[in-house]
Amino acid sequence: MRFLLSLILMSFFLTFASKAQELKLDTISVQLPSLEKTEKYPLVADGPIKNVIFIIGDGTGLAQLYSGQLNLVGKDGRLVVQNMPVTGFSITHAANRLVTDSAAGATAYSCGAKTNNGMIAYLPEGEHCRTVLELAEAQGKSTGLVATSTITHATPASYAAHIDARSKQPEIAVQYLNSGVEVFLGGGREFFIPQSEENSSRKDDRNLIDEFTANGYEFVENVTTMKASDSEKILGLFSAAGMPSENRTPTLAEMSQKAIDVLSTNENGFFLMIEGSQIDWAGHDNNATYAMREVKDFDAAVKTALDFAVEDGETLVVVTADHETGGMTLQYGNSSEEMEIAWSTGYHTGVPVPVMAYGPHAVEFTGWHDNTEIGILVAQLAGLGTLPQIIE
Ligand SMILES: [Zn+2]
Repeated sequence: MRFLLSLILMSFFLTFASKAQELKLDTISVQLPSLEKTEKYPLVADGPIKNVIFIIGDGTGLAQLYSGQLNLVGKDGRLVVQNMPVTGFSITHAANRLVTDSAAGATAYSCGAKTNNGMIAYLPEGEHCRTVLELAEAQGKSTGLVATSTITHATPASYAAHIDARSKQPEIAVQYLNSGVEVFLGGGREFFIPQSEENSSRKDDRNLIDEFTANGYEFVENVTTMKASDSEKILGLFSAAGMPSENRTPTLAEMSQKAIDVLSTNENGFFLMIEGSQIDWAGHDNNATYAMREVKDFDAAVKTALDFAVEDGETLVVVTADHETGGMTLQYGNSSEEMEIAWSTGYHTGVPVPVMAYGPHAVEFTGWHDNTEIGILVAQLAGLGTLPQIIE
């Protein structure tokens, strides 16, 4: 056992050593300290949790957040996410790999269970695991998924679909039809339109947009119609594939606000998962400028969630990541206002990721947790039930 462990560690070091010689550098400059003084969010008294907003920054490690801080608000500034009162760490390994992908990473949070990379709320032995969102639905709460990737991408899918391979996005879109989820906002129209239509990635003639509409959803495809909608069920698909990063419209914050507005009308409460999907894509690209832009979009969405939670008083907000991407490190720069960003890989890393929490019982998220424990804790604290569960 000890030998095996040292082998595992050894292979870690060897991989790291071979990559370290090909670090890619990128320079990020530090902004002047922002004049706007940012306030810390307080710890709040424990009480019942009616609503949960679970926010995942895909690929978002400490370096992504801290370089975002330096670049966006300066050395003395703080991002909104850094002002949350409780911080901890999440250990992200998958069942079959020490470095997770987003499917296994999100399944750990949604089901409270470890699975293999690529699997969506689906366990290695072929069982389906119940998700925290499904527990919320069963209690009569409203639920929503918001992402800047396709809405059928691995992270959102892990809350409302069960499938052995994340690549089966056309099937994931079909599974969403009867998921009960009230709000879907993101990209990925390609998986909802029939193969005869331009930009379709379906291999059949189903028009899921029509099928969603028949199920009582209003379909919206731009920020204006999204904001104007007064429907209790919304399918918003704002791009054929993932949403654009530059000049994104709606922003992640605007989608999050809409989701909160719709879901919070349910007096039983709601569960909402929001994903800043493309911090991960910036990491895969080893592109610091892209990462900073995405951290900014992400942080604004965190503020939207916290603004609601402060007002509401019965909302737990948890912000974390499924894994870090790119092995981003911050290196000695040319001046006091500049640093170099180095990347050690074009894939994910196994470095634990930060967890931030606000609201009743937020303090439970302090310290180091396995990613599955975070999922289990959310379900338990919000009175949704005990995870993990196997669906017959
Ligand atoms: Zn990734």
